Amino acid sequence: MACLPILQIGDPALRVPAEPVDAATLASSPIQQLIDNLIETMRAAEGAGLAATQVGQPVQICILEVDRNRRYPYKPRIPLTVLVNPVLTPLSSHTFSNYEGCLSVPNLRGRVERYAEIGVEAWDRHGEPLARTVRGYTAGTYQHEVDHLAGRLFVDHVTDPESLCTWDNFTRFHQKGFTAEVEALVDRFGS
Ligand code: ZN
Repeated sequence: MACLPILQIGDPALRVPAEPVDAATLASSPIQQLIDNLIETMRAAEGAGLAATQVGQPVQICILEVDRNRRYPYKPRIPLTVLVNPVLTPLSSHTFSNYEGCLSVPNLRGRVERYAEIGVEAWDRHGEPLARTVRGYTAGTYQHEVDHLAGRLFVDHVTDPESLCTWDNFTRFHQKGFTAEVEALVDRFGS
């Protein structure tokens, strides 16, 4: 396992849509090694997720994990999840305002509208089909990560530039109110 450098906004590789991975390639040791390295890199950076495009690999693989994350103390827990070739489908028109940050966008956070209920279809790291419904705050995290595989960053979706803030100013001015919003969302959707 190894920690990989995380590309930063402005690097053209972050904007390259990722290619699907076939079953044989997924089983190969370079791709399995890439998945292990994504996990180690995400954990070292205290991210809630990481996409292969963020380490310069244009393949449709992203991972998520939230377990008492210091960067996102209000986030509901997400067990370690590997998504290969993920497809997300909104299950309702219900949306919520998410305050997002990104390991590829240093020291900036902003509000993005996300679907509150999505269907997820993907493979796991062994090529086994995975289908689930994800609701609430966690649905926003899935949408953020899968966006990376299409070459999109959260800043593309920020409709109100006045919501943009540094991490320090998020903590100072916005975290308390946003934590209450997350709690209301978790009460309504269960995550
Ligand atoms: Zn990101």
